[in-house]
Amino acid sequence: DGHTISRHQIDSASSKFFPLCMSSCHSHIRKNHHLKHGARRQYGLFLKAIGLSLEEALAFFREEFTQRIDSDKFDKQYGYNIRHMYGKEGKRQDYPAFSCASIILNNTPAHDDCHGCPYKHLAEDDLKSRLSGSKMKNENIAEIITLSKMNQFDKACTLQWELRHGQEPGSLQSTIVHPNQYYELAKEVIG
Ligand code: SF4
Repeated sequence: DGHTISRHQIDSASSKFFPLCMSSCHSHIRKNHHLKHGARRQYGLFLKAIGLSLEEALAFFREEFTQRIDSDKFDKQYGYNIRHMYGKEGKRQDYPAFSCASIILNNTPAHDDCHGCPYKHLAEDDLKSRLSGSKMKNENIAEIITLSKMNQFDKACTLQWELRHGQEPGSLQSTIVHPNQYYELAKEVIG
């Protein structure tokens, strides 16, 4: 099935297909072995929507979190939370992944949080260094930063998508409005 992913495929998917908002969360959990509530929800629901099963999600978060806390504490504090995202606890709702609008407008990240939209929430220097990591030309980075400063976050993200995937600027028919749309379009182009 083209629409499932295992936890062992996330590193590679992140480096090829994830928008900056999600690769930020991914780098953060790999580095710090923890994600706070806001990031767990933003990233967890995104992973669910790209086809990570509940079992794989529990294993993924457990393997990271238990590098810092014991397994018992993980199950008590975070297991419920992850099962809840998959509609297995509480009201048993099938929660959808967050759209860009929701990430941009709600739950503003604090300084040490990794969630949010980098084009909206990162300071210019931090955004610049995030973009520099992707072998992008300086003039292109400047253009993306200018769009971000003009509050055109969707256009900044769309341009980053195009440049990262070797497409002409302006060639993408749609504007990025959802992290999962970014992911699906990237998979279509570079599989
Ligand atoms: Fe993520 Fe949307 Fe921001 Fe792009 S515009 S980084 S997909 S929240």
